[in-house]
Amino acid sequence: MSKSREDAASKAKLEKQDSPKSVVALARCASYDRSDILSALQLLVKNLGGLQSTIKPGSHVFVKINHLSPSSPPERAILTHPAFAREVIALLLDFGAKVTVGDDIQSSPGDGFSRSGYCSLCSELGVRLVNLKEAGFREVEVRGELIKKAYIARPVLEADAMVNLPKLKTHSFTVFTGAIKNLFGLIPHGLRLHYHRQFIRNEVFARMLVDLFSCVPPQLNIMDAIVGMEGEGPSSGYPRKIGLVLASRDAVALDAVATQIIGLDPLGVPTTAIAHTRKLGVGDLRQVEILGPSLEEVTISGFRHSVAAVSLFRRWLPSFLYAYFQEQLVLVPEVEPRICQVCQECVRMCPRQAIGLVDGSAFIHKADCIHCLCCHEVCQHRAIRLKQRFLGRLIRKAEGMLGQLNKLRVLRQSPASANESLETKRGL
Ligand code: SF4
Ligand code: SF4
Repeated sequence: MSKSREDAASKAKLEKQDSPKSVVALARCASYDRSDILSALQLLVKNLGGLQSTIKPGSHVFVKINHLSPSSPPERAILTHPAFAREVIALLLDFGAKVTVGDDIQSSPGDGFSRSGYCSLCSELGVRLVNLKEAGFREVEVRGELIKKAYIARPVLEADAMVNLPKLKTHSFTVFTGAIKNLFGLIPHGLRLHYHRQFIRNEVFARMLVDLFSCVPPQLNIMDAIVGMEGEGPSSGYPRKIGLVLASRDAVALDAVATQIIGLDPLGVPTTAIAHTRKLGVGDLRQVEILGPSLEEVTISGFRHSVAAVSLFRRWLPSFLYAYFQEQLVLVPEVEPRICQVCQECVRMCPRQAIGLVDGSAFIHKADCIHCLCCHEVCQHRAIRLKQRFLGRLIRKAEGMLGQLNKLRVLRQSPASANESLETKRGL
C-alpha cells in the first residue's frame, strides 16, 4: 500500500474516533445528461470542502466502479453508469490526479467493458481501464473478525487514494449493495467464491465484507443513485429512478443515508450495523450531518426491497430456532428452462459446481447448493427464480405486514427518532 494511502487510512480512522459526526452530501440529479451530473457533482464536492480536502493534486487515484461480470447496458441499472463515472473522472483529471479505473470482471476487456461503454469512455479521457484479474493481487494483513489476510488488487494498493463509485441497489443476499459491498470486487474471483462457500449466513458474510472494507477504506465515496435498482438486485431487479447523487468520505454513513432514502432501516443492514459497531464509520443517522436536501424531502416511497430484507429478524433468534427458520426461509434458486439461454455464466460462477446442463438448459442440483445466490446474480436473462417453502412464504407475509405497520409508525417520526426507537428495541 502506498505510504500516503496508509497515512490517509489511519488519519481517517482517527478522525472517526475523535469526531463522531460524519458528513454526507446529497444533490438532486434528474438525468444522466452531462450538465445535470456535472452540476450535482460540483455541489457535492464543494459541500465536502473540495477535492483537496481528500486527495492531493498529482496523486494516483484508483476509481472503483461497480461492474458485474456479465456485461450489461447501463440502462439496466446493474452497473455504475458510465456517464456518471465519466464526470467524476473528468473532475479528478481537472484537479490534476492520475486516474486508473477498474473492477474485477470475468470477461476480457474487449467484451465486458465494451458493452457497458467503459472502454470507449476511458480511451476518450485517456485514463487506464484495468480488469483487476489481469493486474494481479497482493497479500495484505487484515485485522478482521473473520479474515486475517486477503489478496487485494495491486492497482488499489499502488494508488495514493481510492474513489469508490457504488451503484445504489438492493441485494438478494446482503439486503443492500452500496459503498461497503462494492469493495468485494477488489479481491480475486476465486477467493470471492471461496468466501461464499465459507460464510454462508448473510450476517457472517457481511462481517467478512466489513473485514475487507477495514483494510482498504476508500478516501471518497460517490454513489450513483440517479437510477438505482429495486427488488432482487444486484442484477435481477428493476431500474428505479431516484434522482440523487450522494457523496461522503465515510462509506458507512453514505450507505446509512442511502438505505434510509429507500425505506430500509440503516442499522438493519448487516454491513452498516457491523461497520458502525466496529467504529469504522457512522451508521447511526443521529451522528450524520446531511448537506443538501433533507431526508424527508428525498425519501422514496414504495421502493421494493429484496426478500432478504424481510428475513433479518433471524439474527435475534436462539440458534436452535435459527436453524429451523433458516431452513424454511432459505431462498432456493431454480432455473426456468423456457427462459434459459444456456450462456453457462451460472455454471462458471457456482462455487459448488452445483449447476449442469440437462435437456438443453441449466439445471441446479439442489443437494450441492449452498444458497449463495451467485447464479441468480450473474444470470442476465432472469432465468433463475428464487423459490421459498410454504411455511417460509407464510412467515415472510407476516413479516411484510409487520414491516408495513412499522413503516407507518416510522413515517410519523423523524429519521433520528426512528433510529432511536429501533435501536432501543434491539439493544444495539
Ligand atoms: S440460467 Fe441464466 S446464466 Fe444460467 S445458463 Fe441459463 S441464461 Fe445463462
Ligand atoms: S446453484 Fe446458485 S445458489 Fe446454489 S451454490 Fe451454486 S451459485 Fe450458489
